[in-house]
Amino acid sequence: MSTIAENISTLAERIHNAAQASRRDPGSVGLLAVSKTKPASDLREAYAAGLRDFGENYLQEALGKQTELSDLPLIWHFIGPIQSNKTRAIAENFAWVHSVDRLKIAQRLSEQRPADLPPLNICIQVNVSGEASKSGCTPKDLPALAQAISALPNLRLRGLMAIPEPTEDSDEQNAAFAAVRTLQDQLNLPLDTLSMGMSHDLEAAIAQGATWVRIGTALFGARNYGQP
Ligand SMILES: *Cc1c(COP(=O)(O)O)cnc(C)c1O
Repeated sequence: MSTIAENISTLAERIHNAAQASRRDPGSVGLLAVSKTKPASDLREAYAAGLRDFGENYLQEALGKQTELSDLPLIWHFIGPIQSNKTRAIAENFAWVHSVDRLKIAQRLSEQRPADLPPLNICIQVNVSGEASKSGCTPKDLPALAQAISALPNLRLRGLMAIPEPTEDSDEQNAAFAAVRTLQDQLNLPLDTLSMGMSHDLEAAIAQGATWVRIGTALFGARNYGQP
């Protein structure tokens, strides 16, 4: 077995155990492979080992891999910061966007979503770590933003995404993820997605209701930002 295939089976076990520990169906937690900085050949290996959903942070890099892997039925998720001038390419080339944190971006994605594609699945990124994070809307702005986005025609608001401040303390991890779930519950919208949990904190995220865990390092190994 390749290292990537081995990592995937280890992750499947972690996800299974975490789901069981909180009496959740392991099938309700999706593994999103975060492939930023990794070559197309690594994604191909992950596909061969059963993964279908891939998350990318940088548009140009993602488009290159999409071209290289166009023979595979992959589902692409955009998970990085979004500048206005990138929305058209994102609307045209992805099935999901996890990192929407302002209305202007959502409006552009809705306007630019091609008519022959299904609605673009959207998660609102919310900042539950205060000043420690620059990305994500504030909990205070979330209800109005969620209402406005859920009214846009070519988007389908699925839920929330969060990247809490990294900590090894599992109580702190649980508290941050629980805060995300509470914010979602308070919206009173028909949402089915919580995108939260990464390599180091997926257990706490699953305990608090994650439906996508976004995993890079534990799947593909450490990233080398020198050579994307
Ligand atoms: C890089 C990244 C991840 C993956 O993080 P790991 O710690 O490598 O698992 C998840 N989500 C987002 C938004 C990322 O940018």
